[in-house]
Amino acid sequence: MSCNICPRNCNIDRTAANGFCGCSFVPRVARAALHFDEEPSISGNRGSGTIFFSGCNLKCIFCQNMVLQDGTLGELFSLERLSQTMLKLQSLGAHNINLVTPTPHRDILIPALHLAKSQGLSIPVVYNTGSYETAETIRAFEGLIDIYLPDLKYHNETLALRFSHAPNYNGIAIEAIKEMVRQVGPMQTDSSGIAVKGVRIRHLVLPGCVFDTRAILDQIVEVFGKDMPLSLMSQYTPVSTCKEPPLTRRLTKQEYHSAVEYCIQLGFTDVFCQGLDSARPEYTPPFSNQVVL
Ligand code: SF4
Repeated sequence: MSCNICPRNCNIDRTAANGFCGCSFVPRVARAALHFDEEPSISGNRGSGTIFFSGCNLKCIFCQNMVLQDGTLGELFSLERLSQTMLKLQSLGAHNINLVTPTPHRDILIPALHLAKSQGLSIPVVYNTGSYETAETIRAFEGLIDIYLPDLKYHNETLALRFSHAPNYNGIAIEAIKEMVRQVGPMQTDSSGIAVKGVRIRHLVLPGCVFDTRAILDQIVEVFGKDMPLSLMSQYTPVSTCKEPPLTRRLTKQEYHSAVEYCIQLGFTDVFCQGLDSARPEYTPPFSNQVVL
């Protein structure tokens, strides 16, 4: 069985070898726990039941979760263990099940979600992704995912290649997000402000790249409209392994403010903004070979 789950199209048998993402066929989970550092609509006051998968089909040179990139950290999780983990997180009071970098594990996650739902999983399921996805893979999750949190990282092809080694990132991500919006529409919240369904696009403003942020904001309005919920993230934190300027420094106050002002100018109606004090290494959870649950 050759893997073409994502646009990398590695065409390899993941039961025998690893592709670009570094993921074996059986997923590795690096952490499963209540997580409180997502947007308030996702973390709420009880936390988001987050399952961090090891391995990624993007290799961003500035990744805050760099230790997960090669897919070797964490424990192997069977379909049944995944399903039990979701139920355990629900029993701990999680507002939702938050699957981080789930795409390479499509063929285990879909039956695991069916199993968990048949055994009582009733809280919303969140698909948290860098958006280098085929629309076909997103379609395969229809009816199983309630909330999509897709990044829209780059408009500019040169940045996508330099920083994430991802050819045609923007075109691919936009088609994937269109499919997410077709399934669940823009994000809706309950009377307490907790997300129940829909899409919220995330964009991390990168130092020295506000020109690209502006292009992305223009594109979101053009393709999805100004009512598309947006998280404009300021939490960029340089990692010691990334030596490429301007990614070696933090975002300045002026850069972030200019991105926020551009949102206001474009008329976005639902924007989550962060303080610049969000740019802290503490935002990266502790990962280890032993998951928390
Ligand atoms: S999921 Fe992994 S192995 Fe499969 S095509 Fe994508 S990068 Fe390659």
